[in-house]
Amino acid sequence: MNGHVNRGHSVIVFAVLVGLGLVTLLGYYFGYVPYLEAGNVTTQKSTLLMDTVVDVRVDGRESDLLVEKVFATMDDLEGLLSRFVPDSEISEINRRAGQWVKVSPLTLEVIELGLEMGALTDGAFDITIGAVLELWGFGSGQYYVPTEAELEARLATVDYTKVEVDTARSQVRIPEGTVLDLGGIAKGFIVDQGIQILRDAKVKRAFVNAGGDISTIGRRPDNQPWRIGVQNPENPAEIRFILPLADRSVVTSGDYQRFFTYENERYHHIIDPRTGYPAREVTSVTIVGDNSATCDALSTAVFVLGWKEGRALIERVPNVEAIIVSSTDVWISSGLDQVVTR
Ligand code: ADP
Ligand code: MG
Repeated sequence: MNGHVNRGHSVIVFAVLVGLGLVTLLGYYFGYVPYLEAGNVTTQKSTLLMDTVVDVRVDGRESDLLVEKVFATMDDLEGLLSRFVPDSEISEINRRAGQWVKVSPLTLEVIELGLEMGALTDGAFDITIGAVLELWGFGSGQYYVPTEAELEARLATVDYTKVEVDTARSQVRIPEGTVLDLGGIAKGFIVDQGIQILRDAKVKRAFVNAGGDISTIGRRPDNQPWRIGVQNPENPAEIRFILPLADRSVVTSGDYQRFFTYENERYHHIIDPRTGYPAREVTSVTIVGDNSATCDALSTAVFVLGWKEGRALIERVPNVEAIIVSSTDVWISSGLDQVVTR
């Protein structure tokens, strides 16, 4: 089957353009620009990681070294957590399904967080969705529209409550047939780890943008919050909302990010674990919160839950705001409503 794949970034960090002018804009395209700002060096660089463009900006002394350190850490973590890296710890857990597998503390941490998000969202977010994603061909690129019976067989392997975590021995066991997939949370978790390196180094101003999973430290040089553009899901080239963001994270899930088209039907990569089909009610979900990992999982979960249940989830979880967009409607949670530019 011939699939069409579209890889977009859902969000653009505006500060680059708005706050710092042409030099940084050029630097953005050439990948590297250190320059002086009040005696401090700013470094901004992009690289390809996790199948997306990762853009990191750091202000302060040794910013160039710190950016490299962030990239190296993110690269290492992708090597641990990706289902598509054959010698990753996640691949090993999947290969040895049914047996206990020893993993590093960070792998254990992200799996535990994934399971917590499963419980918080009543299974709308489920890291055991891997076998269903494989059937659709998300990841391999061998796209295929499965039959109901095929989906049903795979859905029988999806249940996050069956994942066993032994913290004392740092090991994990999944049932035979189950496939772990951290694609809905790992990117956010990895962004958080990058930000942690910068906080540990006492950086006062920075951001990490991994294709729309964004975390920020501090504010722009003019002391305004960073400005984050959220794309219009109907026309991803267009910015639909601008959000101010300081010391927080924002993550967007959209149906325009990864999809294929078959017989005029569009199939995207966010799967409703209740049906095995791509969730259809909304077209884009943006979550603002304290860290990228939970925002990442929540954006996927709210996308799955749809218009009504998704809103209920956001209203129930503290310190989290959202913008939910469907083809006919927009909902902005109360904490964002006053600050969003439409
Ligand atoms: P992106 O990775 O494009 O930023 P998301 O954060 O929404 O988008 O994550 C989508 C990814 O999450 C999918 O590619 C897949 O790996 C995984 N996934 C899909 N459906 C679910 C689900 N119901 N629960 C958990 N993970 C999911
Ligand atoms: Mg997500």
